Amino acid sequence: RAKTEGRDTYRYFEASMGAEARDKRVMEHELRQAVARDEFYLVYQPQKEISSGKMVGFEALIRWRHPERGDVPPSIFIPLAEDSGAIGQIGDWVLTAACREAASWENPLTVAVNVSAVQLHNPNFSRKVHETLLKSGLAAARLELEITETALVKDMPRALASLRQVKALGVRVAMDDFGTGYSSLSNLRAFPFDKIKIDGSFIKSVDTNGQVAAIVRAVLGLGRGLGLPVLAEGVETLGELKFLDAEACEIGQGYYLGKPAPIEAFGDLTGHGKRVRARGADRQDGSL
Ligand code: C2E
Ligand code: MG
Ligand code: MG
Ligand code: MG
Repeated sequence: RAKTEGRDTYRYFEASMGAEARDKRVMEHELRQAVARDEFYLVYQPQKEISSGKMVGFEALIRWRHPERGDVPPSIFIPLAEDSGAIGQIGDWVLTAACREAASWENPLTVAVNVSAVQLHNPNFSRKVHETLLKSGLAAARLELEITETALVKDMPRALASLRQVKALGVRVAMDDFGTGYSSLSNLRAFPFDKIKIDGSFIKSVDTNGQVAAIVRAVLGLGRGLGLPVLAEGVETLGELKFLDAEACEIGQGYYLGKPAPIEAFGDLTGHGKRVRARGADRQDGSL
């Protein structure tokens, strides 16, 4: 039911939420119980080297299967979880689940985990990351944390301290949604990022829209100048991928290269779920 009606169910919910602040409180309450009720799961989206089509890693993306509302998208419940404080517990769950999963893969691909502002501002953040790595057995070099600019602005010194501490563990950090925040350039200078993820809104039609192309070329130049690899998010077409390849963008992610799916769909890469793969449940070939 959730699978087929999820979108409609959700649209109804969204409409009613504006009208009823009470609904928001109900959902915040449900969010706090959702970890214990096992309602969250992770899907994984491929990240591929553009020049070769080779897989380099997966981004873990959280999903919430609400027993009545169906699938609620993270763009709705993550902000609620941040407001209510539930994000601490949810973020811990995501980190643990993603590290455990990645530690079991046959290939040493990286796993990218999204981290919210509230998590980054917790003085225990790097200790939690360290403990999670030790418990899961995942090598620090295989974990990448994706951080949006809004996560940095609240308390810059605290955020900077957290980033330095996790980097000292050997974990890498990527700036997510680059170009959509207020002060992308100063943040790039102030924080020790290892990668730039260009927001998908700049990749859409990059091959046909000259203005967008100019912006993407400039970001690629910025990455080159700073010695940071650039990942293009939201690659949806072959045309976009060809443009990025011609402009020497290092890494791509998007529906054209692979949609987010439960890890079983990527069995030949991870060594799990070969049965699902054998049925042709997904397409691994992202080459040009
Ligand atoms: P994000 O980190 O920028 O993740 C990329 C989003 O773009 C994902 O949406 C993904 O499904 C979607 N996407 C991927 N390829 C394409 C494409 O080709 N076209 C289009 N139109 N979209 C594409 P999703 O999974 O709904 O997540 C939305 C946002 O929610 C994420 O943006 C991230 O900011 C947040 N989020 C997701 N999982 C977590 C989590 O575990 N923790 C935290 N704190 N935030 C999360
Ligand atoms: Mg992300
Ligand atoms: Mg993003
Ligand atoms: Mg985003």
